[in-house]
Amino acid sequence: MKRIMVIGAGFAGMWSALSAARLIHEQGTNDVEICVVAPDPHLHIRPRLYEENAASMKAPLSEIFREAGVNFIQGTVEQIHADRDALEVVTTDQRRLTLQYDRLVLAAGSRLFRPQVPGLAEHAFSVDQIADAAELEAHIKQLADQPDTPARNTVVIAGGGFTGIETAAEMPARLRAALGGAANVNVIVVERHQEIGPDLGPGPRPVIEEALRELGVTLKLGVAVSSIDANGLTLSDGQRIDTQTVIWTAGARASSLTEQVPAERDPAGRLHVDRYLRVKGMNRIFATGDVAYAATDNEGNYAMMSCQHAMGLGRSAGHNVAADLVGAGMMPYSQPKYVTCLDLGPWGAVYTEGWDREVKLVGKEAKSLKTQINTEWIYPPATGSTRTEVFAAADPRRVVVA
Ligand SMILES: Cc1cc2nc3c(=O)[nH]c(=O)nc-3n(C[C@H](O)[C@H](O)[C@H](O)COP(=O)(O)OP(=O)(O)OC[C@H]3O[C@@H](n4cnc5c(N)ncnc54)[C@H](O)[C@@H]3O)c2cc1C
Repeated sequence: MKRIMVIGAGFAGMWSALSAARLIHEQGTNDVEICVVAPDPHLHIRPRLYEENAASMKAPLSEIFREAGVNFIQGTVEQIHADRDALEVVTTDQRRLTLQYDRLVLAAGSRLFRPQVPGLAEHAFSVDQIADAAELEAHIKQLADQPDTPARNTVVIAGGGFTGIETAAEMPARLRAALGGAANVNVIVVERHQEIGPDLGPGPRPVIEEALRELGVTLKLGVAVSSIDANGLTLSDGQRIDTQTVIWTAGARASSLTEQVPAERDPAGRLHVDRYLRVKGMNRIFATGDVAYAATDNEGNYAMMSCQHAMGLGRSAGHNVAADLVGAGMMPYSQPKYVTCLDLGPWGAVYTEGWDREVKLVGKEAKSLKTQINTEWIYPPATGSTRTEVFAAADPRRVVVA
C-alpha cells in the first residue's frame, strides 16, 4: 500500500485530500491510502472570526472524509523528516507515531505574526484562530461588568489591513451590544502606513474610508504601536491611548513546519513551489494554501494567503500529488481570476475584481455577496453528501472565486 499524507484540515488540506481521493477513485487504483493529520476533524472558518459566535465557525469533516475514503488522524505533526519520508505525529490522546509517506502535502496554514512589541503577548487579543476569537468575545461581554471609563469603552485594532478593517467595522455594533446603546464607544485603528488598507491599493480605499467614517471608527495612520499594557497602549509618536481591549491583526506567517523542509521560502515563510505545487527541489513534497508561494498565472501574480487561493491550491495539489504517485497526468495550477470582498460591518461591503482591485459592488449588494461567500461558498460539502457530490466539488477544474 502506498500512502499520501496531508498535513492540515484547513481549506487547502481538506480540498487536497478530497481531490487526491477523487483522482485515485477515477484511476480505479486500490493500493493508495490518503491520510489527513490535523488537531480537529473540522474545517475552521477563519475568514469569519471577526464576527460573533466564534466557537460556531467550524464545519464537520469526518463523514465527508469517510465518504471519500480519506483516513483521518487526530493529532499534530511535530517533525517532518524529508530525508527519510517520515512524519513524527503526536495524537490528541498523546500517542507518538512515526508515519512513512510516499508523497506529502504540507497544508499546515498560517498564524498571526506577533512581533516583539512589549506587552503584546500578554495583553493583546486576536481573531486569528477560533480560540483567540472566542477569548476576545468573552472579554468584550465581561466589559459590561466593569466601571464605565474611556478605557472600557475603547477598542484599538492594531493593523489596518484586510483583517483589521473587517474587525474594526464590526466593533462599534458589537461593543454597543455588549455595553448598552448609550455607551460612548470608541473604536480606533492604528496603521503604521499613511493609508488605510495599504496592501489593498487605491481602488477600494475611498469606500473603506467612507464606511469606517460613517461607522464612527477613528483612524490613526503613520504611527505604530510601541507597547501595550493592562490599561492601554503607547504609540510610536508618544501618544497614550487608554484601553482594555487591543486586537492585534497585523501580519501572518506560514506554519513553522515549513522550516523543516530544506527548500527556499519567501519572507512570509512560504515554500516556493512549481506550477504543479511541488516544493522546488523536493521530489515527494507538495505545499499548498498559506504555506505555498505559488504563481497564479503567467502574468507574475502570486497567491495571497487567502481562503480564495487556498481552496484552488488545495484542489490542484491533491490532484497532482495523486497523479504523480500513480503516473497519471498532472495539471498546472492556475487561478487567473482574483477578487476581493471586504466586509464593512453594518455599512455593507466592497467587492473588487482583478489585481488592481477595481471596485464592482459596494454597500448592500457587496454585503449580500460577502454573506454568500462566507456562509456557503467556503464551506465544505454538507454532511450527507454522496461520494459523487464530494468528488464533483473537489474537481480541480472547478472555478473558485470565493
Ligand atoms: C480574521 C480572518 C479573516 C480572513 N478573511 C479572509 C477573506 O475574507 N478572504 C480570504 O480569502 N481569506 C481570508 N482569510 C485568510 C484565510 O482564512 C486563510 O488564508 C486560509 O484559512 C488558509 O487556508 P489553509 O488551509 O492554507 O490554512 P488554515 O486554514 O490555517 O488551516 C491549516 C490547517 O493545518 C492544521 N495544522 C497546523 N499545524 C499543524 C500541525 N503541526 N500538524 C497538523 N496539522 C496542523 C490546522 O489545524 C488547520 O487544520 C482570513 C483570515 C483571518 C484570520
